[in-house]
Amino acid sequence: MMNSFWWGHSGAQNRCINWMSWEKLAMHKNDGGMGFKHLSAFNLAMLGCRWRIGDDNNIPLWNENWLVDAFPLEPINNIDLTCSGLMVSDLMENDSKEWTVRRISTRGESKGDYSVKSAYRICVQELIDTSYLRVNGNWNLVWNIKVPPKVKNLIWRICRRCLPTRVRLRDKGVECTQTCALCNEENEDSEHIFFKCPSSRNVWSMTGFFHVVSNAINNNNNAQDIIFHILQQLSKDDSTVFACILWSIWKQRNNQIWNNVTDAQNFVLSRAVNMLQEWKAVCIVASNPDSKTQEPLARKWRKPMAGRVKCNIDASFPANSDIVGIGICIRDEQGAFILAKTE
Ligand SMILES: [Zn+2]
Repeated sequence: MMNSFWWGHSGAQNRCINWMSWEKLAMHKNDGGMGFKHLSAFNLAMLGCRWRIGDDNNIPLWNENWLVDAFPLEPINNIDLTCSGLMVSDLMENDSKEWTVRRISTRGESKGDYSVKSAYRICVQELIDTSYLRVNGNWNLVWNIKVPPKVKNLIWRICRRCLPTRVRLRDKGVECTQTCALCNEENEDSEHIFFKCPSSRNVWSMTGFFHVVSNAINNNNNAQDIIFHILQQLSKDDSTVFACILWSIWKQRNNQIWNNVTDAQNFVLSRAVNMLQEWKAVCIVASNPDSKTQEPLARKWRKPMAGRVKCNIDASFPANSDIVGIGICIRDEQGAFILAKTE
């Protein structure tokens, strides 16, 4: 159910497709997962949190099935875990009757107190082996980019082949054309839509790091390798622009398919840059408590992209009247007045 919820709101065409098992989603972000909770590990951690032995001090540690699986106990402090006479109660505080991580594992929280968080980590590391699911790559390169979460999420989906490109949709049994909606020539997979489509190449050629992108495209076969290659080469600032352009290219593709709107390639670039600037401005305001009491940042009017007009509108609603006032002003790419109307 949670899996369906996670994938269920990402577009009409792929509403019912589970792109990845929960087990893979629950892997650590450094291993290619999303870091969601692994439910059986979390249940086990919660079980440990609630466990009480009460006054029964006579449950042997090693010969009773008192936990679902044997915890990988390690000798810590002055407790000898190889001693055959150990009781479960020896792993507990005498007064509180609660587990202490220091007696259960060295890999718990440094304070030594049992917490669901530390127990969860131990359960995932020691009991549930998902190492065979790991996807190699320096995933921190993706998670550390200073961009909105939606952009990182998109990059993760590209790299994990969970993006509903037409090729992937057909892999999942959706009957649709495979051809790229932007060039109508090649099949639309991630490599093509983001890097090899003439439309995308033109966008990259307008950036200052086109040579890095071009080199990565020529030396790698799949989108994940291309992206990791590029992120390794770019500065932090260029990485943020690169990531937002990927987001804007995907938006361009969706605009073409769902709205039949063709975004100009320089607009794809400027949309990425504008979105990044606006997000940074919000982050600065949000992180500065003093700014909340100050006047909002002055917003400067910007010209529309070449070939487009910009329409600004405003409305007023007097408190003691049901009359509404509106104003509309349309200007061209030079900022020159075209038409205005008030009512
Ligand atoms: Zn194309």
